[in-house]
Amino acid sequence: MAKPDILVIGGGVTGTITAITLAEAGAKVTLVDAGVNAGSDANAGSLHVQMQSRFMRLYPDQVPNVEAALPFYRAAAEEWVKLDAALGGVELVRKGGLMLAETADQLAFLEKKAAREAAKGLSVELLDRVSLDRIAPWLGPQIVGAELCRDEGKLNPLLANRLLKRRAEAAGVTRLTDRVTQLRMTSHDVEIDTPDATLHADQVVIAAAWGSGDLVNAFSVTLPTRAEPLHMNITEPGAPVINHLVQHAERSITLKQFSSGQIVIGGGWPATSQGSHAPPTVRHDSMLQNVALAARLAPAISSLKVIRTWAGMNTTIDGASVIGPLPYTKRIIMAIPGDAGYTLGPLVGRMAAQIAMDAPTDFDAGPFSPARFAN
Ligand SMILES: Cc1cc2nc3c(=O)[nH]c(=O)nc-3n(C[C@H](O)[C@H](O)[C@H](O)COP(=O)(O)OP(=O)(O)OC[C@H]3O[C@@H](n4cnc5c(N)ncnc54)[C@H](O)[C@@H]3O)c2cc1C
Repeated sequence: MAKPDILVIGGGVTGTITAITLAEAGAKVTLVDAGVNAGSDANAGSLHVQMQSRFMRLYPDQVPNVEAALPFYRAAAEEWVKLDAALGGVELVRKGGLMLAETADQLAFLEKKAAREAAKGLSVELLDRVSLDRIAPWLGPQIVGAELCRDEGKLNPLLANRLLKRRAEAAGVTRLTDRVTQLRMTSHDVEIDTPDATLHADQVVIAAAWGSGDLVNAFSVTLPTRAEPLHMNITEPGAPVINHLVQHAERSITLKQFSSGQIVIGGGWPATSQGSHAPPTVRHDSMLQNVALAARLAPAISSLKVIRTWAGMNTTIDGASVIGPLPYTKRIIMAIPGDAGYTLGPLVGRMAAQIAMDAPTDFDAGPFSPARFAN
């Protein structure tokens, strides 16, 4: 194989966008992907912008990073709108996201959260039950109010992933299914080991999500990438009623309706890891509690049958994205989205490509520099 200019490790949404951007700018690009546990292949298609209560509960120490990045989330949702047009439609609907409250305390929490988000430029407002009934009449009687974030939306990730792969192929990206085990600097390029080959490239972009930490240890960078196995459900099609992305102020849930009428229910219920070489497996307790909560919040969907469940591998780091060259090794560039990585992936992937091309980035990459993990 001829030596690529740039080798991208990881073929999820982030790495694929990086590869497309570089190839369409004229670079010779090879993408190497291990072919397992891509969060992008398992995700729910929610465009998240407001701070997720689940994340705030589980990772309070990481909230400052997410909060600082709220304008970045907004820009990332805009990036998806452009991508939707460029790919010819990924069923993107941007009617906003509702975070529901069932108690006065939850509503008070949302009120404070909305004030913080508005200060960062998000389009948020608090709705009482009367206002909610006008836009979401299918809610359970116990819902007292909600935060509406107009920046949020939903899309069909199966369709988006298929169109992205097709676009990469059309742009001339060479895709290999293999697992990178080690990277080394030579005097003039980067040497890349896989079990099957040793490759060389002028530059490498690491968009390997949970697999990224192991690849950069040798470069005096400790990147605490953690794999987080999560559960998802999808129902049979129902009549179209739900326009919004739906979450809860305290409980783990995301709920949305695809244009097929199917309801996708998830929101971070745990699955069981089988390691990095096999997909995680579903947990029955996650399925039952996840769908029971969905039926409680939206009784109108409770007669729909769940037709499929699956589990996928999410990645957490410190709440913020990691974008930019390694501190001591400029030929290696990181591209790892922070929390809600499918939302952030296209913008992160594009910025990593811009950095590789030495071009100005669409958004200030400074706060996301890998230098914060330098030993
Ligand atoms: C069940 C679930 C639901 C989710 N729902 C949403 C949602 O609704 N909205 C949202 O914004 N986010 C969601 N996420 C998060 C989101 O899916 C991920 O953060 C995002 O897809 C990450 O994209 P990525 O391209 O950076 O990485 P991934 O899609 O995880 O891809 C990384 C790729 O790198 C490969 N790789 C790893 N190590 C190596 C190596 N050494 N060599 C070669 N290849 C390697 C992997 O095999 C994988 O294919 C969800 C995640 C899960 C698991």
